[in-house]
Amino acid sequence: MLNIILMGPPGAGKGTHASWMANDYSIPHISTGDMFREAMKSGSELGNKIKDIVNRGDLVSDELTCALVRERLSQPDCANGYLLDGFPRTLAQAEAFATMGEEIGRAPNLVLNIACPDELLINRIITRRVCPKCGAGYNIINLKPKKEGICDNCGTELIQRKDDNEETFKLRLANYYKSTAPLLDFYKEKGILHEFDSSGGLEHTKKTIKEFLGGLQ
Ligand code: AMP
Repeated sequence: MLNIILMGPPGAGKGTHASWMANDYSIPHISTGDMFREAMKSGSELGNKIKDIVNRGDLVSDELTCALVRERLSQPDCANGYLLDGFPRTLAQAEAFATMGEEIGRAPNLVLNIACPDELLINRIITRRVCPKCGAGYNIINLKPKKEGICDNCGTELIQRKDDNEETFKLRLANYYKSTAPLLDFYKEKGILHEFDSSGGLEHTKKTIKEFLGGLQ
């Protein structure tokens, strides 16, 4: 069973790789970022609470985030595996998840880290476009939609995320190094961390991950 956590700095390609993996292995792609953006769009109580935090590139509280993940992972569609993208992002979340994952029978068994040098990340972030409706991700340089500015899946006009700008990116990257990168050691010690270098581009990284996952079966 694949209970996967996908890690990596902002712009490394987590969302893009999560999409094909979820599809190929028929497991739900659970992105906490997407869930938060959805809440913001719907104007729910949660959405209003986190709006400013997310838009300025800061992290939502561990308590709120863990509660949201617990609720989502408890759903029956996660019983045969899942792909977590963007969670856990702090040591406190990882520790809470170690307990909570066992409690709900959804402990992670594989952590895939998509590494990427800093200088490539900013370019990937500012050229990224997303579909506000179905969440599909594109890039105006190397992952163009068939029709410019329009989502291939649902025909919606693509947008640039509010937090995909240079200034916000800097804070997100600083948060990554301060709060999230230490998790790599946490999972290394548990013996479930596997690292992939994404500087060779999308297709190359995809091929390497595919070979690795194929070798597990
Ligand atoms: P992402 O789409 O993964 O880049 O996430 C977008 C934003 O959502 C982040 O910059 C945070 O504000 C928030 N967020 C997503 N996942 C988490 C998490 N695990 N913990 C705290 N905040 C999160």
